[in-house]
Amino acid sequence: MNIMNNFDKDDIYIVNLIKEECIRQNVKVYIVGGAVRDAILHRKVNDIDICIECDPINIIKKIKEIKKYIYYKEFKTSNIIFNNNVTIDLIHCRKEGYEYSGALPKVTPSNLYDDLYRRDFTINAMAYDIIDDKLIDLYDGMKDIKAKRIRKVHRNSYNEDPTRIFRAIRYSARYEFDIYDKNEISTCIREGIIKNISDDRVIREILLLCMESKWKESVVCCNQFNIMQIEVDLLEKDNILCDYLKINTRILNLFFASKQNEFREMLINNSILEKELRNSLKRYRNMTNEIQTILSQCVDNFDIYKLLKKFSLYELILISFFDVYKYKIMNYLSNLKEITLDVDGKYLMDLGIEQGKNIGNVMNYLLELKLNTGIRNEKEYLNKNSGEILNAVKH
Ligand code: ATP
Repeated sequence: MNIMNNFDKDDIYIVNLIKEECIRQNVKVYIVGGAVRDAILHRKVNDIDICIECDPINIIKKIKEIKKYIYYKEFKTSNIIFNNNVTIDLIHCRKEGYEYSGALPKVTPSNLYDDLYRRDFTINAMAYDIIDDKLIDLYDGMKDIKAKRIRKVHRNSYNEDPTRIFRAIRYSARYEFDIYDKNEISTCIREGIIKNISDDRVIREILLLCMESKWKESVVCCNQFNIMQIEVDLLEKDNILCDYLKINTRILNLFFASKQNEFREMLINNSILEKELRNSLKRYRNMTNEIQTILSQCVDNFDIYKLLKKFSLYELILISFFDVYKYKIMNYLSNLKEITLDVDGKYLMDLGIEQGKNIGNVMNYLLELKLNTGIRNEKEYLNKNSGEILNAVKH
């Protein structure tokens, strides 16, 4: 089986460069992981990982067509960008060991067999021997692809690395495969193994789920496993401000749909999500009730403007998940947000209005008038009615 038929020609060119150098140095070389899986599934191959049984620097030094590379001596891994912009991870085969559940793995250089054994699922544990044009499938990855199932490679896999639970869910949604180890995963979750990994690692996995086109299916699956408690009916809730192609919108939707304070706190307190997004979630969390009370009392444009201008777009999206407020928010964004006064403090002083608090009051009064009555030319209005305005401001 030649999986390379599914690679594009620039990728093939680079793989061949590496192959030629490995032949020269008498080193075995394999494409591994996701690229093999996706090529077999006839899907677009994104990242190419290549494993060798020698230090990658020996290969890197001999290939001229490299634009730049990063090399980690300790782990014998490298990331290479070639002149034609193809990127490859070229790494020494490795063995991984976990001291306890959720620990980061202890990595030692090893051979292909250990490297495939350390992997998460059988469909990700196949290697393609580039020199011999041969698929190496020690754990029946091909059989599982045909049976459309996600199955762990080795005993204790979920316990040693609980992020694999999220990975199983992600691949299951993406390829519409069954999770073969459902019962084991449920047991692990009941035993609380997700707590063995940091909140940042959990949020990173959730972000990865949200980056998939079938993100909703993954969230529903997390719900079924009791990892999250999401009100499923609120997922992708109709909201004119929501573009669900944007990942941050999906996160806002998750936050809104979550019934679990603990999970909402995780979305606020991590170092994975964008700061602006986290700040908006936090402000919204602190003010939900207050916003709702004030917004329900706002009747005119000026009140709506004064309240909503304090909020970021993310906060406005969250508020507009409540149907009762969405028209006020739309009104603000489409009609009010950009309105500004044509007059400034200096203009008012030139008209003889006293410096200080008065100026601010007049400006506010004019803005209120402009927003609520729709007057276009407040300069003209001010010139004609300055006496009346000053009187109103005074009282
Ligand atoms: P994707 O299309 O999602 O990027 P991928 O297979 O390239 O798929 P990566 O997360 O880039 O996924 O990982 C590359 C390979 O490394 C996987 O195919 C898998 O074999 C292995 N791997 C990644 N994470 C783990 C893990 N937590 N445990 C075991 N193996 C893993």
